[in-house]
Amino acid sequence: MTTCAELFKPRPSIAQLDLTQYRSLHHEGRRLVSGWFDRAWHARECRAEESFEPFIFTWFTLNGWAACVTGVDEDRAYLAALMGDRTICEDFTRLLSDSGTPFGSHARAFAQLWPIFEVKELRRLGILHYSAGHRDTIVNYYLAARARRFAPLCWKRHSDAGEQVPLDWPHTLAALYRVRCNLFHGEKAAHSEIDQQVVSSAFRTLVHFFHAAGYLGR
Ligand SMILES: [Zn+2]
Repeated sequence: MTTCAELFKPRPSIAQLDLTQYRSLHHEGRRLVSGWFDRAWHARECRAEESFEPFIFTWFTLNGWAACVTGVDEDRAYLAALMGDRTICEDFTRLLSDSGTPFGSHARAFAQLWPIFEVKELRRLGILHYSAGHRDTIVNYYLAARARRFAPLCWKRHSDAGEQVPLDWPHTLAALYRVRCNLFHGEKAAHSEIDQQVVSSAFRTLVHFFHAAGYLGR
């Protein structure tokens, strides 16, 4: 499996993922993870402004499930294991064109909003926008103001080369994780990087992927 080196470098130290491990998780653990997912799934048609909490429940689901199937707890460690897993990458690519789920259209819409900038850097540069506006305008403004910390990290290299940013699992997971981190970085008001469109799109991408891939049923 190949993806951009900025996202994932295969190393022997990366945890190996075993999707069947989830079946052996104790009952209470499974109940918690399924409960979070159910709350998110029931909200899948919610209005964009109501998508913040369901997104977080979806992330709790991913986090709990990932800790179980990778055996590691640290964000960086389980993200590397998830990005490097051939089965998840193949599931993601196959489901993108599966007309039985809206996942593909949500994933494509989410990718149109990339890159997702790191709020801490925008704040440090004094350029964080509180009104969302058109996404392309915001992205160009941040890039022109020398913001360089964003996900996927290879986004500008693809863009400068005139390429489409690959819509695959590692690129998408990197962008989803950036949205999740931005939610908790202590701003007093919602801003461009966690506006309704970004969070709603991230939520629907992740919840539909998880549902269509059926990982909690394995
Ligand atoms: Zn890339």
